[in-house]
Amino acid sequence: MEDLQRVILVHYHEIGLKGHNRSKFEKRLVRNLEALLTDYPLVTIHRISGRLIVFLKEGCEKDVAFECARFISRVPGVARVSCGFKCERDMDAMGDIAKLALAEAAPFESFKVSARRAHTDFPIDSMQMNRDIGAVLCEANPDASVKMKNPDVTVGVEVVQNAVYIYAFSIPGIGGLPVGVSGKVVCLLSSGIDSPVALWRMARRGARCFAVHFSGSPETSDTSEYLVQDIAEVLDKYGCISDVYIVGFGEYQKEIALSCPPELRVILYRRLMFKVAAAIAARIGAGALVTGESLGQVASQTLANIHCTDAAVSLPVFRPLIGTDKQEIIYEAQELGTFKISTEDAPDCCTLFMPRNPETHGKLSVVEEAESVLDEDEWIERILSEVRIVKYPKR
Ligand code: ATP
Ligand code: MG
Repeated sequence: MEDLQRVILVHYHEIGLKGHNRSKFEKRLVRNLEALLTDYPLVTIHRISGRLIVFLKEGCEKDVAFECARFISRVPGVARVSCGFKCERDMDAMGDIAKLALAEAAPFESFKVSARRAHTDFPIDSMQMNRDIGAVLCEANPDASVKMKNPDVTVGVEVVQNAVYIYAFSIPGIGGLPVGVSGKVVCLLSSGIDSPVALWRMARRGARCFAVHFSGSPETSDTSEYLVQDIAEVLDKYGCISDVYIVGFGEYQKEIALSCPPELRVILYRRLMFKVAAAIAARIGAGALVTGESLGQVASQTLANIHCTDAAVSLPVFRPLIGTDKQEIIYEAQELGTFKISTEDAPDCCTLFMPRNPETHGKLSVVEEAESVLDEDEWIERILSEVRIVKYPKR
């Protein structure tokens, strides 16, 4: 068999459902994949009915193709990924390629063939293809059984206008929508466990996530600024992050600590963070803020305090983890690859000037009264002029 053309089929669910927006979404997914797959031997990416086909260079090894498929499975907007071959529209050739594809998907004890004909100009219907190719595979794999329900491997055969695509290795993708189709958001990104997961969930819904990080600098070391960049690198691998804004927040916290009642400090720090994030959102045209808060997890995450912080801004504030348990968040952070970085010890602004008894039932009027002595508008202007921007995506 010469000129073996390896391909990866990218399936998407939600995009398929989006009616007239579909082509926009497909084009975005193609563009995202082209930008992300620069380390792999790609020739091109085509759109066929309801799928993308990634063409790999001639001579591409199986392991590289499978690794590329695993990578693609983690890109937002991808529901399922299959790795296989392009083949001519000839039943003998199709049988041979199906044998090869199935052999590469080993080990397996059972299989079935699932053929699909996008064009009826191919004379053999899908039932007949299932039977004929199934018979070839049974002969080549006498120890394996054919199983219609939950087989170990499904051999996909997709006949399109000028070609056939055949695959046996398939894995689920993370789903969601391609980054860039849902507008922009500003995520408050600490170096903790939760906020990277919250950001990732929004990216998976197609949002372009800009981030803002508040470090304790110059009152503490700037370690957290570097941890946040390590986290951003992980998110950037799958195209999930845009520019990261880094703010030295220590001196403003000190001012708040000096001028306001100690029990209100945490609420006031957070309101200032929200105002700075909203100012960045206005600059870049983002439509919402995102935090990693989870109800009741710490003192600042009570309903009363959430009300006090939300009232600081007019933008919607999204909290994708509000109903998620810590253990579930930890599991997601491990899957994402940010957990280890987040457990490294770094003083950030959260540990700075913390009161002994933070208010857990903040009252908005009392908070606003305390805040009125601060010159926050001037602070925000200064913060924006001094902010350090780390550019993403890096490619
Ligand atoms: P995380 O693990 O995300 O830090 P947490 O459980 O430590 O969350 P808090 O410290 O109360 O909870 O922070 C709640 C949310 O506020 C964070 O998820 C994040 O969105 C935002 N936030 C907290 N500290 C910072 C910071 N230093 N820079 C940017 N955002 C922050
Ligand atoms: Mg934190």
